[in-house]
Amino acid sequence: MPVYKAPLREYRFLLHEAFNMSQYAALPGFRDAPLDVVDAILDEAAKLSEEVLQPLNQIGDREGCKLENGVVTTPRGFREAYRTLVEGGWPALVADPAFGGQGLPNALGVIFNEMVSSANMAFGMYPGLSHGAYSALLHHGTEEQKKTYLPKLVSGEWTGTMNLTEPHCGTDLGLLRTKAVPQADGSYKITGTKIFISAGEHDLADNILHLVLARIEGAPQGIKGISLFLVPKFLLKEDGSLGARNGVSCGALENKMGIHGNATCVLNYDEATGFLVGEENKGMRAMFTMMNEARLGVGLQGLSQSEAAYQNAVAYAKERLQGRSLTGPKAADKPADPILVHPDVRRMLLNAKAFNEGARALLVWTALQGDLSHASDDAAMREFADDMMALLTPVVKAHLTDRGFANAVEAQQVYGGHGYIEENGLAQFVRDARIAMIYEGANGIQALDLVGRKLAANGGRAVFAFFKRVDDFLAEAGKIEKLAPFAAALSAARKDLEAATMWFMENALQNPDNAGAGSTDYLHLFGVTAVTFMWSLMAKAALEKLDGAAEDRSFYETKLKTGLYYVERVAPETALYLERIRIGAAPLMAFGADEF
Ligand SMILES: Cc1cc2nc3c(=O)[nH]c(=O)nc-3n(C[C@H](O)[C@H](O)[C@H](O)COP(=O)(O)OP(=O)(O)OC[C@H]3O[C@@H](n4cnc5c(N)ncnc54)[C@H](O)[C@@H]3O)c2cc1C
Repeated sequence: MPVYKAPLREYRFLLHEAFNMSQYAALPGFRDAPLDVVDAILDEAAKLSEEVLQPLNQIGDREGCKLENGVVTTPRGFREAYRTLVEGGWPALVADPAFGGQGLPNALGVIFNEMVSSANMAFGMYPGLSHGAYSALLHHGTEEQKKTYLPKLVSGEWTGTMNLTEPHCGTDLGLLRTKAVPQADGSYKITGTKIFISAGEHDLADNILHLVLARIEGAPQGIKGISLFLVPKFLLKEDGSLGARNGVSCGALENKMGIHGNATCVLNYDEATGFLVGEENKGMRAMFTMMNEARLGVGLQGLSQSEAAYQNAVAYAKERLQGRSLTGPKAADKPADPILVHPDVRRMLLNAKAFNEGARALLVWTALQGDLSHASDDAAMREFADDMMALLTPVVKAHLTDRGFANAVEAQQVYGGHGYIEENGLAQFVRDARIAMIYEGANGIQALDLVGRKLAANGGRAVFAFFKRVDDFLAEAGKIEKLAPFAAALSAARKDLEAATMWFMENALQNPDNAGAGSTDYLHLFGVTAVTFMWSLMAKAALEKLDGAAEDRSFYETKLKTGLYYVERVAPETALYLERIRIGAAPLMAFGADEF
């Protein structure tokens, strides 16, 4: 049976020590999150994840969701677990107090979500998508829509979905055909087919609010003619109670590789009543609010599976006896040594451990920037935070999911053949992790977003602000001798990232394929540099603790060793990424279609 223990000490280190969240205590949101409250929330979230959600993970995988006569049933135990989640007030954690939320920082929200997702990724998607729908309505809905629908989403009584994909239209949303016909009362009739809709139909909540992209009759073709609509599963009566069933139904459930506990639906809209959200033909803007948030949420799914798989692989490596250490027996009383003695097994485990801790820091740091971009009263801080959030969102989404998946595979490798056997649970982590690289914009698209849009935005302001922040840190780090290996690695990675950025500026305009050919390398170059930066910040915090009279010294010593592993063995990858970027598009584009 797989295990999961929420890494509470790690979260406390990040929030209280490395990022010193209490420095923002005067700001809205942070005000309500003093240290003891944060700690109590983390403890309760850990309990929910470890005791309620994790035990359902394999059940969800084996049973999956079922569709009978248009009714979708979630796996055994999911309904009760969802009720526990709602009764605990968890869906309200970071939502606006005006609609019943607790208004806490999203930096805490992503930590909660990581725990939930590590424990049970498929389950976590039900409340996760609701939060995306909440954000779209909060930012783009009318006052009336907000008043009517948000409290129910915030309490978790109702859930939400996002409906972009159609059979012929995934990445290229300009192709979408779902149509919206205006009605005399101001509503619209929505007709079309959406596929792959996560949490599209289920038995967890009384109502489901579908946020649907559709084209109003007569609107321009392509991306410029798309609008966003709210289509409730049940329409509401005058008094706000549930009324007639709307014209949306689940036509089929996808039979898929992983996340079996989440209902991935074909949704048929047959003249369903929908309400415009935001302006006509500006649906993509509204949807992006939802997608940006969802992208951080998907990035954390990659991390969450990496963490869960790592924890199990460590336990296994300590128990499994095979072979002897290259330097002589370490468990002479046993017939063989535990496989943890083997450097190659350690390589696999440490790749995951060093990544998980660094990636978690990047996720929390990025979410914190998102919080500051709203909460700060300092315009310069808000601008920096907003720029970082925009720049790093595709990096978090794609770097964390590509690496998270690779780590899940390596954790499976630690189990040898037993990793391939379903009951041990590693295969599920691999299968579940795989989707995160695909949905919410496939990772290749995230890389294009980074190179094509995020780098160029405001004349490159965000990327230069990132360099400046790193330089400021390096100037300070130069005075701390024990930080030297971190500073050296960060400085080298930063140099490679700057060189790659300049190379794009010089070579992508004349031939855009040069940008496309190097975009994924650039995204990972950025990811490794950003994680190296996070490790440098964490190392500084750990050294400060060790220089003082900190208890728990072994935690900080291990932290430094883990950081060293990352900066010495992983950070040098930036040089390879740079080399590949500089080769440009020629080796890719030299082939004719018939040569494949
Ligand atoms: C389990 C699951 C759950 C999902 N949940 C939802 C959901 O809740 N709501 C929703 O709306 N959708 C959902 N999706 C759909 C998902 O977001 C899409 O599958 C994804 O966006 C990719 O679209 P596609 O599958 O049509 O691939 P395509 O767009 O056909 O892309 C195929 C490949 O080509 C690449 N590619 C495409 N265009 C370009 C380009 N211009 N440049 C470079 N490369 C390109 C892509 O990166 C990809 O690797 C889900 C999918 C799955 C499998």
